[in-house]
Amino acid sequence: MNGYMGKVLVVDLTKHELKDEPLNEQYARDFIGGGGIACRYLVDLANEKTDPLGPDNPLIFMAGLLTGTGGPSFSRWVVAARSPYTTFYGDANGAAHFGSELRFSGYDGIIVKGKSDKPVYLYIKDGKPQLKDAGKLWGKNTYETIEAIRKEYDDQRTRVVCIGQAGENLALLANIMTEDGHCAGRAGMGCVMGSKKLKAIAVRGKAKIPMAEPEKFREFARGAMEEVKTGFVTTVMHETGTAGWVDSGIAYGDTPSKYYTIATMPEATDISGVTQAEKYQVGNTACFGCPIGCRKVLHIKEGRFKTEKPTEGPEYETLIAWGPLLMIADMGAVNRFNTLVNGYGFDSISGGAAVGFAYYLYEKGVITSKDTGGLELKWGDIDVTLKLIDLIAKNEGFGKILQEGTKRMAARYNRPGEAMQVKGLEVPMHDPRAFCCMGLAYATSNRGADHNKSDAYLVENGMGNPDLGLNPGDRFGDDKAPMVALSQDWRSLTDALGICHFAMMSTKSIVDMINASTGWGVDQDAILKAGERIFQLMRATTCMFGVTPKDDQLPEIAMRPIVDSGQEGHVPNMSKMMPEYYEIRGWDSNTGKPTRSRMETLGMNELVRTFAIR
Ligand code: SF4
Repeated sequence: MNGYMGKVLVVDLTKHELKDEPLNEQYARDFIGGGGIACRYLVDLANEKTDPLGPDNPLIFMAGLLTGTGGPSFSRWVVAARSPYTTFYGDANGAAHFGSELRFSGYDGIIVKGKSDKPVYLYIKDGKPQLKDAGKLWGKNTYETIEAIRKEYDDQRTRVVCIGQAGENLALLANIMTEDGHCAGRAGMGCVMGSKKLKAIAVRGKAKIPMAEPEKFREFARGAMEEVKTGFVTTVMHETGTAGWVDSGIAYGDTPSKYYTIATMPEATDISGVTQAEKYQVGNTACFGCPIGCRKVLHIKEGRFKTEKPTEGPEYETLIAWGPLLMIADMGAVNRFNTLVNGYGFDSISGGAAVGFAYYLYEKGVITSKDTGGLELKWGDIDVTLKLIDLIAKNEGFGKILQEGTKRMAARYNRPGEAMQVKGLEVPMHDPRAFCCMGLAYATSNRGADHNKSDAYLVENGMGNPDLGLNPGDRFGDDKAPMVALSQDWRSLTDALGICHFAMMSTKSIVDMINASTGWGVDQDAILKAGERIFQLMRATTCMFGVTPKDDQLPEIAMRPIVDSGQEGHVPNMSKMMPEYYEIRGWDSNTGKPTRSRMETLGMNELVRTFAIR
């Protein structure tokens, strides 16, 4: 199988057994890699009765088709399972060096089944996997865990993914973390890992990825590298990282503040990417093969939250979710929150939003200090926020409520419509009233409100893909259904390939590299069709887990206009966009599933019966 290592490792934690299996060639051809193949295996191994925290829920790690090949920013991997957080389809996308090293260790992916009776970790070196005792690692945070494993093998290039205390304590919003603060975030994949008592996976190897035409691949990869290096997005991301969006976000009314009730907090400039670059930034880190290096290393040298050593800085989502969303604009404090949240290993978007929702409910008198264990929740209170982070990670006290997420909180306190979430996943820090396309993207995304499964707001901002016709329009317009669907298909494809969002290269380069790697001879239309196939597979899977059309909507709080802001009082016109989107997608308006004819057009005939599609 050119382009693939051709092998997955199947780990049965109940029996403590390890077995190599050939990668399913048809799945690779149809669903490419990463989330596409992971979801296809999930469909084989789970069903509507699968308990997300039971032994039957598989946890599936899969590298992208191009991950580790040396093309620009080809670093990404996906982990998928039924989500304990949303209860629907769940996956999470990670970067850094784990995906590439997984392939060098001899595997395209790892399928983890069952549940261990004691803490273990998986170590793979040059194609030889072993399950090891993790008793001494249990209780350590993610930084300590990674360091301890590297020390054990005296090898800083051992690449580790792991959970922190949040995953061990079965906090539903737990992440899987890797080096330099990179996470596979959202949807609680770390909680699934914790339920299996799997503390970490560590990989190391020297294997080469087989290529159909290696010389040609290298030539195309060099060209793509040049395209990425000379791009405008690369310059911005290298200088300021994702935090560079803060200043633009303030102008657009796209830095959600005070739990999404105001569009911006002007003091947020104190935590912007530009301020960080000028005052705190001492370096960058980069994922495998990435010429961009968007990750910031900060040194806060003064004030209450000064650090002894430089630390990895917060990304945009964390900056806003633990900053203006809570009415905090203190760079030292947000940096500390970031270090704690990543160390404990939980979702910074959902965590910040849950804390923000608690502040919001407290202000309205819906909850009181009796509910919070004596804590008074006041906007901007850094000390209380620090306590809440601890409680979430420990899954204790009021943290027990917060770790369940805002959908469950809204039900508990009888405030339906006021939790800013879709399908149980909190809306990220791009407001659907600032970019109305994001309303549709959030409402239809397969794992819940998700800015990473569509580039729609980036398209509106001029960072789309002209080769595909993804060009900017009116950010408040209601003609977004075709653009959102296309951007979701494209993102499904690039996630399956293992390409980072920020690596801007021509579609031709991507097609050339796929062909030189696999020998398939595909064209742009064929790869876009594969992108749609993956998106629709995930849609059918999430419907299998219980999603229906009533879940495809924004909450009432998202439809409250905010005038006198960069949002100019706009809200997404969902009643126009959603039927158009259903039509484009070929979704049944009663069940929400892709229709039989759409599944067959995409070559998924054999899955029609699996998903009970009429
Ligand atoms: S742009 Fe950033 S996240 Fe993407 S591959 Fe490069 S360093 Fe990693």
